[in-house]
Amino acid sequence: MTARVALVTGGIGGIGTAICRHLAQAGHRVATNYRDEGKAKAWQAAQKADGFEFALAAGDVSDVASSEAMVREIESQLGPIDILINNAGITRDTTFHKMSALQWQEVINTNLNSCFNVTRPVIDGMRARKWGRIVQISSINGQKGQYGQANYAASKAGMHGFTISLAQENAKFGITVNTVSPGYVLTEMVRAVPEDVRAKIAAQIPVGRLGEPEEIAYAVGFLTAEQASWITGANLSINGGHYMGW
Ligand code: NDP
Repeated sequence: MTARVALVTGGIGGIGTAICRHLAQAGHRVATNYRDEGKAKAWQAAQKADGFEFALAAGDVSDVASSEAMVREIESQLGPIDILINNAGITRDTTFHKMSALQWQEVINTNLNSCFNVTRPVIDGMRARKWGRIVQISSINGQKGQYGQANYAASKAGMHGFTISLAQENAKFGITVNTVSPGYVLTEMVRAVPEDVRAKIAAQIPVGRLGEPEEIAYAVGFLTAEQASWITGANLSINGGHYMGW
């Protein structure tokens, strides 16, 4: 395999950490961003204790200038970015009739506008080098909608619209662009959901349980492999059978 440079946004989070580790195990040099330096350094040290070396750069993916500075910093540490995983995301759940403009904007800025903010400074280099792998971490709730998540579902469905357009524009440049749509995975984001609600969700999943972060990371590894060169514009549902639509 060819060792590549990978940027995983939100790599310090539950799914992000699993993706960082999976890509490192595949032989790539991996970087992620942080907003809280203390938290990031502690994470980096914990990963190092487990045998993983990750590069770090400050960056708020909801902000255009901060995202560009983050990309340039990672490039200065590791070299040009060949693999980009747009993974950072947040929820601000409430029913739409109670939703504030801020709750809407924070989610759209972090989950969807981040795809522009981070991919835009990366895409020219990928096109020039004629190789790239871009994966958006969307969500089952962008496919089927979810009560209390009009903002989140809109942002996550938007990510796939971004994917299929970018895939068309860049197919001739050796760049594949795909979406991974996870179902409910046991991370901090889902631990915030009350336990009785989580149990009800698990009961609706044919496999009978929530997912593990490594099960999402495995799909990212698959889509970013050299051999995945004919997979572009796809949306891979990884949800234990919870939703079997597009
Ligand atoms: P976590 O909350 O564990 O991690 C989210 C990460 O995103 C954190 O590292 C966080 O950093 C980072 N982040 C959030 N906002 C920003 C920002 N503005 N700039 C930079 N980084 C930011 O979430 P998960 O690991 O569970 O989720 C990862 C992705 O997977 C998300 O996009 C989520 O929507 C998606 N997903 C998750 C599912 C689940 O069941 N867990 C299901 C379907 C999709 P910080 O530490 O600074 O807050």
